[in-house]
Amino acid sequence: MMNVLPQIYRDELLYSVLSRYKRMCGMQSRRALLKDVYGESKMLTSIFLPQYLERFRENLPPYCKITVDELILNHTMFPFYTSFFSKERSNSILNMMVNGCGKSIENLVGFSGGKVKPYNRLRYCPRCYSEDIDEYGESFWRRLHQVPGVLYCLKHETLLESTIVPSTEKYADYWCADTDVCNATFKDDTYDERIMELNWTYIKNTMFLMNGDYQKKELPDIVDFYVDRLREKGFASANGFIYMNDFVHQFLQFYPSHYLSLMQSNVDENQQANWLRLFVRNNAKNRSPLRHLLVLQFLGISAEEFFHDQSILGRISARVNHVPSFDLEARRNAWLKIIEDNPGLNRSQLKEIGKGLHTWIYKHDIEWYERVTPRVGARKKRTPVIDWAKRDDECLELAKQAVESILNREGKPIRVLASTIRQEIGVRRWFDSRKLVYTRQFIEQVTEDIHSYRIRKIRWAIGELEREGVNVTVYKVQLYAGFGGNNKKVAELIAKVMETSLA
Ligand SMILES: [Zn+2]
Repeated sequence: MMNVLPQIYRDELLYSVLSRYKRMCGMQSRRALLKDVYGESKMLTSIFLPQYLERFRENLPPYCKITVDELILNHTMFPFYTSFFSKERSNSILNMMVNGCGKSIENLVGFSGGKVKPYNRLRYCPRCYSEDIDEYGESFWRRLHQVPGVLYCLKHETLLESTIVPSTEKYADYWCADTDVCNATFKDDTYDERIMELNWTYIKNTMFLMNGDYQKKELPDIVDFYVDRLREKGFASANGFIYMNDFVHQFLQFYPSHYLSLMQSNVDENQQANWLRLFVRNNAKNRSPLRHLLVLQFLGISAEEFFHDQSILGRISARVNHVPSFDLEARRNAWLKIIEDNPGLNRSQLKEIGKGLHTWIYKHDIEWYERVTPRVGARKKRTPVIDWAKRDDECLELAKQAVESILNREGKPIRVLASTIRQEIGVRRWFDSRKLVYTRQFIEQVTEDIHSYRIRKIRWAIGELEREGVNVTVYKVQLYAGFGGNNKKVAELIAKVMETSLA
């Protein structure tokens, strides 16, 4: 029986609480601690997914009211590792943690078989560490910092540091997050802005999973959901056939390869069985939550949207979609153009030509689509005569509207690039055709270099902070605009912009 229990901090690993307890009682051996905590000195322990928690709770001092469920949901890695499991499967893991099962739960959730490994050393944020010491006189191990793929501390925007404390050993000792293993010096962020931006979203999604406030989904529904979203983006046919090469290719355009290797998720485009191809197919393979989040982020969907969206139809989703901010008319014209320029082609051939556009119209404007789109069998193939000049005019118009809409968008500015313009219009590769001379020229002209984009983002952040009545400083602007706190070049740029905008 334990007579005391140290205060448990928010997001603290149970392992960390026990380590502090051990230190507090001046215990030397792991065995003595186990005897005290579980009433047994020889047992399997785990930092991330501990078990026998009912027994542990029974040994707690009577004043301590924490429940076993609270321990598991708020102080272990259970919510993260079971987030994409079915209700049945995660309940079974939960039961093992409550009552104990005598074997390693890590293996059951895919630590050993999976390709995404947990960090094998405990991690911490140097700034959190020094704040903790100031505030509490001690620090502790946070759950969020141990999640694979979490590179930063969300609060301080600093890179997390690794320690010497092993995290996955079955008979690991109990280490406190103290001066022996942590310190308050932090390294400069060496990753580029895109990586930070990507990881930011990943961390927020992770936090949503850790909070655990959502309904579980079954694996076949999850895969169906992916197929639905892929279809909307033009990566799958109406009956769910995935255009795998396109999908993989775009995925690799979206994620820098350096980021994918940081996330233990490199994709070899030439390999037929790369993880991404297998991921969106119906099979019982273990899928790491990290990779679910990568795929969702690529699809532009947050973990919250994913779990709160219960409408999977397998065919066309009934979900209300965000209606793009510009003209239906322009899209209709572009579609008519495709029909006109390609006489004799059947629907699926037309769709191939205007993939993204087709997807959009098919979803949002189906009646009109049915009316105007010819339903012909594949006749003798005629070489379509395309009036490229005319099409160029129309595409130029679309591109102009898209740029305006990107520049006038609410919230954090998006960089004007060929890819963001295409995204805004909802068209794909055909838009980059060399024959669209003026359109290409225009896109080249408006493409923002990184410097101008930064300035635009800085001005936006200054405006937002002023609107909120905040006393604007370089540092605040830096954080608000998402640059991170350590980039000296950016800090200088911000100071310059502030001078000119205040003058
Ligand atoms: Zn921190």
